[in-house]
Amino acid sequence: MYHYRRRLTREVVFGNLFLGGYQPIRVESMTNTHTSDTDATVEQCRRLYEAGCEIIRLTVPTEKDAENLKNIREQLRRDKIMTPLVADIHFSARAALKAVEFVENIRINPGNYANKKKFSHNDYTDAEYQEEIDRVRLEFAPLVEKAREYGVSMRIGTNHGSLSDRIVSRYGNSPEGMVEAAIEFARICEEMGYYELLFSMKSSNVKVMIQAYRLLVKQADAELRYAYPLHLGVTEAGDGDEGRVKSAMGTGSLLEDGLGDTIRISLTEDPVHEVPVGFALVKKYNDFHLINGDRGHIPLKHVVDSRNHRIKFIPTTDEEPAFNPFQYQRRVSHQMSLAGVMIGGDSVPKVETELHASLSDSDAAYHELVQRLAPQKPVDALRSEFVSVRVESDADLEALDELLGRLGDAARFVVASTNDVLLFTQLLNKVTKVRCDILEGERFENDLLQVLCNERLAAVELCFIHKGAGDSVPAEVLAHLAEKLRKQGTQRLLFSIVSDHVIYTYRRLVQVFNRRAFDYPVVVRCKGDNHERLANIIDSAVQAGTLFCDGIGDMIALATALSAEDEINQAFNILQGARIRMSKTEFISCPGCGRTYFELEKAAATIKQRMSHLKGLKIGIMGCIVNGPGEMADADFGYVGAGKNCISLYVGRECVAENIAEDEAVDRLIALVQEHGKWVEPPTIL
Ligand code: SF4
Repeated sequence: MYHYRRRLTREVVFGNLFLGGYQPIRVESMTNTHTSDTDATVEQCRRLYEAGCEIIRLTVPTEKDAENLKNIREQLRRDKIMTPLVADIHFSARAALKAVEFVENIRINPGNYANKKKFSHNDYTDAEYQEEIDRVRLEFAPLVEKAREYGVSMRIGTNHGSLSDRIVSRYGNSPEGMVEAAIEFARICEEMGYYELLFSMKSSNVKVMIQAYRLLVKQADAELRYAYPLHLGVTEAGDGDEGRVKSAMGTGSLLEDGLGDTIRISLTEDPVHEVPVGFALVKKYNDFHLINGDRGHIPLKHVVDSRNHRIKFIPTTDEEPAFNPFQYQRRVSHQMSLAGVMIGGDSVPKVETELHASLSDSDAAYHELVQRLAPQKPVDALRSEFVSVRVESDADLEALDELLGRLGDAARFVVASTNDVLLFTQLLNKVTKVRCDILEGERFENDLLQVLCNERLAAVELCFIHKGAGDSVPAEVLAHLAEKLRKQGTQRLLFSIVSDHVIYTYRRLVQVFNRRAFDYPVVVRCKGDNHERLANIIDSAVQAGTLFCDGIGDMIALATALSAEDEINQAFNILQGARIRMSKTEFISCPGCGRTYFELEKAAATIKQRMSHLKGLKIGIMGCIVNGPGEMADADFGYVGAGKNCISLYVGRECVAENIAEDEAVDRLIALVQEHGKWVEPPTIL
């Protein structure tokens, strides 16, 4: 929870590749062609290979598709493309038994492998439950035998959207159910002496996905023989920046936990686009291993490496946690008003960004402030609710005065930051909030406490500028100040840290604040000076997103190299990804695969274009019904492939219109939203 170490797992074979153990975290993608179409599938595999994809998954709905894997494999190998192939199986044991002959790994979904009844049975007696497990064992055992015979590894890939009736009846559609579904299958494998396993626990809900993986590690490591590798991914993440942010938050949060041996970024786009996002995400962790070698890993359980060495178990420390990693609960903070905008308590986290223009360039600064604060836009439009201005001299102070005058009423949303106590004092009477930067190693305390004791108008944010390596210094210093200020009766305080180790230093802060029962609001600050747009998007999504998914944060403050518009969108995308502030429609759209028989990407783009303004609504767009019922339970409306060029429409998990022609289906979906009173006209653009 407080520093990075990768969980050491058993190495599992993937053809010419090993996965887990000390191996780098691998990047995987999946074709969206029909696997029976050899040319199209080989061509897409080739493009994925050229993009650097390390593992390629193909959907195998039928035995015919499974048989065609042979042709696909032969063509790829003939072209010297040796990338390990994974067969993705839902439902069909016969397809699995055939596919295992032609791939390096087989993925089965424990929710629908040997579990055909869907939502037909809600109440299982213990005897019926056991009977079902016995039946699953009978159907599953031949696949395990054959996988062993062919030297093929297996991923037990649970999906939140497709749990079996049996599991849902006992555990609900929950992370606990997802974990039990996977472990049931792993028990069978271990009983049969087959250990070439890995797991995944996917959901389109980032918090559910994070909790499920953490819970799996806890339970599997307690019960199973080995620490098996993990394949990470957020399913149905959507497309564009939203899809990248959601994927980075879920996957990155677990990578920061030290979990994960392979990842897939699922985007409703050309699968080739997934590969650079995957590499951008794993780079930091693979680089850490390159620098630290094996010291960067912790064995949480006895593991066996590829050389068949048994590695010693190191127990985790039992430091008190900053939050419950298995169940979301927002950290309790007290509420305060900043210029009428509520911060902390149960109000949604607010957004702050930083002025890029220099204060000495008055016109540029004014126009940027107007762009970020957007005072002319409707009340609920996406805008930076506060913009922070850096003040370093008397000249800056004068320029700020002039700007505040020009901004009129919007001036109350301008906040300031400085590390000079004299300037700080003067700013307290000018702006709504002043951030005082406390530089590590510099003396400040007496002067600062003196100033804070006096009468003042602005709220104060104490921000520790941390240069260390993710230690507890910022937390201890800020808690010490908070203690003194509490005794002085100083109220309107917020706390933050600027650090390269955002997640760990903030968790420390919360740990120390919890210990002293401090409920001050916390501003999650994320700085990024990387000029590469994707790296900026991914890094801020991982750092800030992880904390909001942990329940930490009352405000998000981004200071990145992104454009003003991108930065504001990024902040709202992170809050939306954590589902703590819904500011636009959420599209839960799958990437599509060989089970898709309509133009998914085009449909997703049209639906997004026509329905994005429906704030707070969740719309599922699925290539097929495999994950449908479960994910539909999470979505308000669903648009699901139902056969060649046909769509079924859902309200929640109930199918309300079947087999609609593809070219009418978007209009019918909008009509359905209107019938349910959820439609509003899009705002007119003047
Ligand atoms: S939900 Fe989408 S990605 Fe998943 S199996 Fe169906 S079509 Fe393929």
